[in-house]
Amino acid sequence: MAFYSEEQTTEDYLFKIVLVGDSAVGKSNLLARFARDEFYPNSKSTIGVEFQTQKMEINGKEIKAQIWDTAGQERFRAVTSAYYRGAVGALLVYDISRRQTFNNISRWLNELHTHSDMNVVTILVGNKSDLKDAREVSTAEGKALAEAQGLFFIETSALDSSNVAAAFQTVVIEIYNILSRKVM
Ligand code: GDP
Repeated sequence: MAFYSEEQTTEDYLFKIVLVGDSAVGKSNLLARFARDEFYPNSKSTIGVEFQTQKMEINGKEIKAQIWDTAGQERFRAVTSAYYRGAVGALLVYDISRRQTFNNISRWLNELHTHSDMNVVTILVGNKSDLKDAREVSTAEGKALAEAQGLFFIETSALDSSNVAAAFQTVVIEIYNILSRKVM
């Protein structure tokens, strides 16, 4: 009997995905929108790591995405290696209306690569795309950085739901594809 039967591989899939980025870029709200279709206008991050498991379907197969949120630890530069350990996917989030959060992306990318596998599937996410008048980072700049670093790229709004599911799905589908190729 093959070690990986079709059923086994898919039913056993549990992908750890981490949300990474500066404080207040919208990480918690991206997760809340994706997992519960909720949005918190004045959300205050609680302290301590939290994760949420979300079932997804790819090619008719059930995948569980275990999505981790720093829950405010990044404010104290206190995201620990345990947070990243075992992650196979990452959403690297900045706020398109705050350039500093975009400038800090390379720092977060370094941290991600220090604490996790270099092959972690990563998407650069420019959140708060609804704040058109306050935009400080152009779409082209986001795209260019993603291309230079070999990342996927998307702009989202947790407020109006734009592209939120697509951001998570892009990562999960790519992980699934990589794993399928390895198994076959
Ligand atoms: P985190 O610290 O990165 O987890 O950020 P939060 O999810 O706590 O969001 C920080 C603030 O930005 C909160 O006041 C949110 O309501 C707001 N926010 C999050 N996402 C969006 C968005 O897509 N658009 C707008 N306009 N505000 C957002």
